[in-house]
Amino acid sequence: MSAALSPKERLAIPPQPMPEQDPFARRANMEEVALGYTPEQARLEAERCLQCRNAPCIAGCPVAIDIPGFVGAIADGDNQRAIGIIKQSSLLPAVCGRVCPQETQCQAPCTVGKALKSTGKAVAIGRLERYVADWERENGLVDTPAVKPATGKRVGIVGTGPAGLTVAADVRREGHEVVLFEAFHKPGGVMVYGIPEFRLPKRIVQQEIDALLAMGCRLETNFVIGRTRKITDLLEKDGFHALFIGTGAGLPRFMNIEGENLVGVYSANEYLTRSNLMRAYDRDRAATPIFESEKVAVLGGGNVAMDAARTAVRLGAREVHLIYRRTEVEMPARVEEVHHAKEEGIAFHLLQNPKRILADERGWVCGIECLKYELGEPDASGRRRPVAIPGSEFEIEVDTVIVAIGNDSNPLIRQTTPGLETNRWGNIVVDEAGKSSLDRIYAGGDIVLGAATVILAMGEGRRAARSINAMLAAEA
Ligand SMILES: Cc1cc2nc3c(=O)[nH]c(=O)nc-3n(C[C@H](O)[C@H](O)[C@H](O)COP(=O)(O)OP(=O)(O)OC[C@H]3O[C@@H](n4cnc5c(N)ncnc54)[C@H](O)[C@@H]3O)c2cc1C
Ligand code: SF4
Repeated sequence: MSAALSPKERLAIPPQPMPEQDPFARRANMEEVALGYTPEQARLEAERCLQCRNAPCIAGCPVAIDIPGFVGAIADGDNQRAIGIIKQSSLLPAVCGRVCPQETQCQAPCTVGKALKSTGKAVAIGRLERYVADWERENGLVDTPAVKPATGKRVGIVGTGPAGLTVAADVRREGHEVVLFEAFHKPGGVMVYGIPEFRLPKRIVQQEIDALLAMGCRLETNFVIGRTRKITDLLEKDGFHALFIGTGAGLPRFMNIEGENLVGVYSANEYLTRSNLMRAYDRDRAATPIFESEKVAVLGGGNVAMDAARTAVRLGAREVHLIYRRTEVEMPARVEEVHHAKEEGIAFHLLQNPKRILADERGWVCGIECLKYELGEPDASGRRRPVAIPGSEFEIEVDTVIVAIGNDSNPLIRQTTPGLETNRWGNIVVDEAGKSSLDRIYAGGDIVLGAATVILAMGEGRRAARSINAMLAAEA
């Protein structure tokens, strides 16, 4: 990295903005919103890094990527070295560079952001990660990882989200046979069925899956463990030596209010799955239709709510109302997603919450009755508790309601696997090695953590893969 620039000169380089599709144009298409840095922008952004000796950014990264190392390599124009450094710690850089909440992780403690008194002005670590991962893919430089000679051991992986895909790659490299089981007809987990194309193009996830197949992993889709085969069948009858459960948190929560069973009420999961996985947005070609909503209410304030609201806009809704019972400060969604949602014309109703959903004479949604709220004392989460204001009822006219207030884990595997310990939220309990209460069965990702993030799921996958590899090596 050029030593010619002093820290003062580095701090004087303006943060490089991410080129984006125009908000008006993108309301009508599913193409990616953020377009990626040019080489010149990437170099300038990388030169903003002070190469701090204590590198607080690394401590903020859940998988401890050598951030100054890869950012310095970009500043030197050595993208090959940069991607090599990232891949020592992260298997999915093109995904994480797009969807990780960097502003609360690696970028939050960045010295540059602190010096300029704004987290928003920290070195754009995520954008640089995306830049270099895209550079590698677009130049056809992604190699299929080498696989060691066959060991004769079989590992089954249940679920193909970031946790399962990571385990598959790390275990297959050691020469073990790997079979991935996926309930849906396509692999990728939330990265494919939940996060929309305009934030994470599906071709990027597909490439990771193609790499696993090229390594010799086998994929069984439309295969529901707990129904098609049970966990115990895989171990006792099908000859698997170890299993990893990475089935995520795909069970939507509802509000349990009047009218939630009306025609026109969706869980965000159903809405997004129809649009993303079944490609219902491609109206002329998709076999799975989706209701042509005019006025939509989305309930919730997380990433899932933003994705649902922004999808509704792209599916042609004239009005999209996002209803959240706290203020924007408490919103769990990424700042960037909130910003994009506002740019796209979504109306934010803060400190409001639905009381009941209203029906027309056919039993279809025709409106939503809400209450106004104010913030009270902090609750167990540390956030100020929203308190309803009596008598503040009002109505919003809508024909569709999308409930996006969180997900729990699906109970199927728990119910069909005797002795598998789960906690009171239904998440699988694992030890520090990622092992469950049952021998040879490991778990990780959202099924262990509850609804979390891609990078945490990947980190859990790495941990479980290390343990599985160590166990199988000890038995060789
Ligand atoms: C709409 C949405 C937006 C999000 N946005 C972000 C974001 O911007 N950034 C971020 O970091 N995180 C985001 N997340 C969270 C993130 O996607 C998850 O934390 C992550 O995908 C969890 O990975 P996983 O591998 O544990 O499970 P998942 O990705 O949920 O994958 C689990 C897979 O297991 C399969 N499965 C389930 N049960 C069975 C069974 N019985 N048999 C076989 N297969 C089964 C499922 O079909 C699924 O494919 C978002 C989540 C959602 C829903
Ligand atoms: S904290 Fe910021 S400036 Fe310091 S090394 Fe990390 S990215 Fe660079």
